[in-house]
Amino acid sequence: NPTGGRGDGTAGNDDNSTSFGFEEVPRDDRQGMVNRVFSSVAERYDLMNDLMSAGMHRLWKEDLVTQINPPKSDAMFRLLDVAGGTGDIAMRTMKRGGLGCSAVICDISPEMLDVGQRRVADAGLADQVDLVEANAETLPFDDRRFDAYSIAFGIRNVTDIPRAIREAFRVLKPGGHFLCLEFSKCTVPMLDRLYDFHSFEVIPRLGQMAANDKHSYQYLVESIRKFPPQHEFADMVRAAGFDNVSYRNLTGGIAAIHSGWKI
Ligand code: SAM
Repeated sequence: NPTGGRGDGTAGNDDNSTSFGFEEVPRDDRQGMVNRVFSSVAERYDLMNDLMSAGMHRLWKEDLVTQINPPKSDAMFRLLDVAGGTGDIAMRTMKRGGLGCSAVICDISPEMLDVGQRRVADAGLADQVDLVEANAETLPFDDRRFDAYSIAFGIRNVTDIPRAIREAFRVLKPGGHFLCLEFSKCTVPMLDRLYDFHSFEVIPRLGQMAANDKHSYQYLVESIRKFPPQHEFADMVRAAGFDNVSYRNLTGGIAAIHSGWKI
């Protein structure tokens, strides 16, 4: 059922159950199940991203970094990249910004962070980038600490999405920018059918062949379909307190970037 699910990001029959892909699971079990997926895929995660998206994720991430817009001067600029995994967004942002830029990569998976730590060191960015293991729902940071908050392909994995967005609002400074890159609802006829075929027939097989893990990649494509469409997610961002909320579709809505400001 490629279009299945309530698609409200909090799917479930009652408060005690929620969706894990197309499966209905006890709410308290979900994060552990998500963590097992990323623990399993961590070492192959970057390779699989390139294979699954034919490199498109790189363009989408560059687009996100353009919106993060780190200053090229020495001005201080602190980015919090939540669900930052192996570090792509933080590293790309540091490469574009000036010497005053720094980033914290926050992720719940120690295995993803281990890969991230190696990549940050290899890129010579260890002085500018810290890595912190934490849940997006309960960030271990003081209020009003960051100039920008990004979350790329991460929010759909979080169990309580409204809570995570409220946490984003809390840790941003006044004037701070919330940016979310996520798979979304494809709005182009025919492309949507091709995309369904790619998602449900190609990606799980690629997962099996390249990472010996069909189950994890099945979850990833199912979780995309359970995520709310563009306008509903924009309402969730507004509900957390953000102003001037907008979104931009990428590649016909296969992905979208949502933006909101803490005024
Ligand atoms: N942002 C990276 C990127 O774009 O390549 C990684 C995205 S990966 C698809 C999703 C990440 O979300 C994983 O690293 C996973 O561990 C993390 N994650 C899942 N649930 C989380 C939570 N509740 N809090 C923080 N991170 C979470």
